Amino acid sequence: MQPDTVPNYQGFASRRPEWSLPELHAGLQVDDDVVLTDVKGRQCCPNCQKSRSLYCYDCLVPLTTCPRVELPFHVSIITDVDEQPSKNTGVQAAILAPGQVQLHDLDHCPEFDKERAVVLYPCDTALDIEEVQPDSIDRAFIIDSKWKRARRLIKHPAIEGVRRVKLKEHKSAFWRFHTKGVAEEGVCTVEALFFFLNALVEKSKLGEAFCGPHCFDNLLWYFSYQHKVVEKAALERVVKKRRQPLIEGKENDGKEELNGLNELRADAPSGKRFRLEGGEGEDDRQ
Ligand SMILES: [Zn+2]
Repeated sequence: MQPDTVPNYQGFASRRPEWSLPELHAGLQVDDDVVLTDVKGRQCCPNCQKSRSLYCYDCLVPLTTCPRVELPFHVSIITDVDEQPSKNTGVQAAILAPGQVQLHDLDHCPEFDKERAVVLYPCDTALDIEEVQPDSIDRAFIIDSKWKRARRLIKHPAIEGVRRVKLKEHKSAFWRFHTKGVAEEGVCTVEALFFFLNALVEKSKLGEAFCGPHCFDNLLWYFSYQHKVVEKAALERVVKKRRQPLIEGKENDGKEELNGLNELRADAPSGKRFRLEGGEGEDDRQ
C-alpha cells in the first residue's frame, strides 16, 4: 500500500546526502517477479560456473524463469571496455529479448545496413522520434558509456552516417547516481530502449504486433524488481538513521514519514542486497 505522501529517501546514500531514490516509472505492468523474490543468496551460472545473483551478466543467461520480450527490430548495445558488465542494464535487455539484443563494441558490429539503422544519441543534428518511420529501422544502436567516451564513440567509422535519434527528456528511476557536479539528466541503457520503443508505440507507428501500451514493460522486469529491493534497503537505512533522534525525543517532525516508510516496507522484497550507491563517475546513463 502506498502512503499518501511520497517518502523522502534523502540521506540514505552517505556519499550524496542530498540525493534521494527516484520513484519507479508509474503504471508499469510487468510479470510477477515472485521467482526473483524466491532466490536466496547467489547461484552458480551453469555456463561459466561463476557466482551470480539473478542472471549471469557475462553469459547473458537468466538463472530463473523470466519473461520474453519481442522487439520490432534488432538492438545493438555498444559496450565500453571501461564499463563493468555487472552495472550495465543493457544486459537485462539482452536476457529478456534474446536473439534481438546484442552487446558488442564498435569494432565487432554484426552486418547491418546503415540506411536502415539509427543511433540513440542526443545532439543538435539528431532527429526527433516523430521524424523516424519505424519500418525504416532494422537495427537501433544504444551507446552504453560515460558521456565523455560516448562523444568519442559516436565518431567511430562503423556508425558514421547512421541517423541519430534523440529521446524526449525522461526522468530516470535508476538507483545509481552520478558523481556530484555531473549532469543528472539521462536514463540508463534499458530505460533508453524502453522509452524509445514506447515513443514509437505512442505514435502508433509499430503496427499491430506492437500496439499495446504495455508490450515493452517487461524490459524493465529485472529493473523494477531491483528498484524494489533498493527501495527496501533505502527505507531501512533512512528509518534507522531517523529513529534514534525520535526515540531520544530530540525531534519528532519525521514521525509521519516513518509511518509511511514502514507501510511501504511491508510490500518490499526481502533478503536481497544491492549496492545503494553509484560507482565512480557517471555510470551507464544515456
Ligand atoms: Zn556465466
